[in-house]
Amino acid sequence: MQRRGIHGNLTGLKPSQCRDLERIYRRRIPPERVVTPELARALTEISARIRRQVGVLADRKGTIRAVVVGDGQGLLLPDLERYRTARTRLSGLRLVHTHLRGEALTQDDLTDLALLRLDLVAAVAVGRDGLPGPVHVAHLLPAAGERRSWKVLDPVPVHALDLRFLPWVQELEAEMARTGAQGRAVPARDRAILVRATAGRRGDAEESMEELCELARTDGIAVLGTVIQHLPRIDPRYVVGRGKLKEIVISAMQAGANLVVFDQELTPGQARSIASLTSMRVIDRTQLILDIFAQHALSREGKVQVELAQLRYLLPRLTEQDAGLSRLTGGIGGRGPGETKLEIGRRRTRERIHRLERQLRQMNRGRNQRRARRLRNRLPIVSIVGYTNAGKSTLLNALTKSRVLVEDKLFATLDTATRRLRFPREREVIVTDTVGFIRNLPRDLLGAFRATLSELHDADLLLHVADLSNPAFPDQIRAVERILADLDLLGKPSLLVLNKADRVPPQAARTLARRYHGVAVSALHRTGLDEVTRGMEQILWGTRRADTPAAAV
Ligand code: GDP
Ligand code: MG
Repeated sequence: MQRRGIHGNLTGLKPSQCRDLERIYRRRIPPERVVTPELARALTEISARIRRQVGVLADRKGTIRAVVVGDGQGLLLPDLERYRTARTRLSGLRLVHTHLRGEALTQDDLTDLALLRLDLVAAVAVGRDGLPGPVHVAHLLPAAGERRSWKVLDPVPVHALDLRFLPWVQELEAEMARTGAQGRAVPARDRAILVRATAGRRGDAEESMEELCELARTDGIAVLGTVIQHLPRIDPRYVVGRGKLKEIVISAMQAGANLVVFDQELTPGQARSIASLTSMRVIDRTQLILDIFAQHALSREGKVQVELAQLRYLLPRLTEQDAGLSRLTGGIGGRGPGETKLEIGRRRTRERIHRLERQLRQMNRGRNQRRARRLRNRLPIVSIVGYTNAGKSTLLNALTKSRVLVEDKLFATLDTATRRLRFPREREVIVTDTVGFIRNLPRDLLGAFRATLSELHDADLLLHVADLSNPAFPDQIRAVERILADLDLLGKPSLLVLNKADRVPPQAARTLARRYHGVAVSALHRTGLDEVTRGMEQILWGTRRADTPAAAV
């Protein structure tokens, strides 16, 4: 049986009882009150008759958005996302429900409160004769980092509940805003907790987590914390296990996070189970990487490739009518490089995939023409390539700050990672930062990764940055060169920059620079940069600058 506004299993109820529930759905609560005695009484009366818990979800205006019918012990709340009206810290909905034996708030009540970020949760005792008894109320606490994340008020009779609801909840949210970010103004970007479950070696997990942190930062996400959970085996539904996941989610929300990023790839089933447990967005490593690609893809082909990869990833995660879809696709992981928002259904996703595949085939045909059409008389382009964390972005900043920097407005709007670098004699180049190479790049993303690098065909010079202080750097240099060769880019002039020289003894840096025919620099401490710019000038214009001393700074 299905009734408008009513959730839960209604089998066994008489038509008159269903009508009573519908009457409750049409009631209102004055915004100043948590619950009125009349509504409390309506709830306890019907509860007493059907011997089940009954509750209402009310919004800030006091409108009842849903009536929920449970069993003797509890209620199962519907997906709240669809009732959300505003972007508030709390969900904007409170739960007022009945407890048949007058019991205190249960663990499930408190978990719903925390995970679904209810404005508050109230339980009215069903007294003898179906009259309302004392009401138990709990709400979340604003302060982050406290052990207990909620406060339970002393039970009082319903008419004695003197919480002025609307002003109270607004003050609570204001307090959360003040304490949520340790007093700093919260920038409008994602704040995430990173999670990894591992049944393997501790060191491997830590390394992988470090890279995930880097990737998150590259994507502009503030990392609030990381959790590595060691397990005998990965939980098939919740990865880290249900109990642990709840714990993580609660402390994540306490810390002010709005996003959970899993280091491992989530199966469609896992993504779904996890999303059903929290109103925070949940993404995995693959989605994070795709999001970075989406930001870095500049060429039309790159954009199409990335969008294709995103849609193919999403497709098995969609159902025909997905109510919770927005949670899986909104914001990060839903950032399409093309014109589409990814909040679309399965059928339309398939259609879009076919369209993009067609476009891609046509583009491959037109690629040679595209190269021929490359702009003449434009500024030379220098592209920085290398592994994530090698120091590409630091080098870009160091180069452009130590020189006269002119932010190119046109490029700045397209891509924040592109700067203009001015040399003496009115010479200028465009320097672009590229998406970094990633150690555990999921196989399915290889095509999209290469596509984002297709811009490199337009570069006049590649600055290949390697992290000298990483013992694996020779392997990384070879891996980068292999990909460049695959992309038919080995013929490009390139300059090897061995970064983080400050972390190794000077003599070792000099030896390695000679051995690899590179320039040893510290982008962080801005040493060796002059040799880099001299090298760039020489390659681009075939000249040596006469106005600087030959020695490196
Ligand atoms: P990207 O991923 O290649 O863009 O690397 P980033 O520029 O973001 O740098 C990654 C990390 O390495 C950051 O924590 C930087 O501060 C650090 N880093 C970059 N260059 C140097 C350097 O020359 N010396 C040292 N010690 N650290 C550096
Ligand atoms: Mg970078």
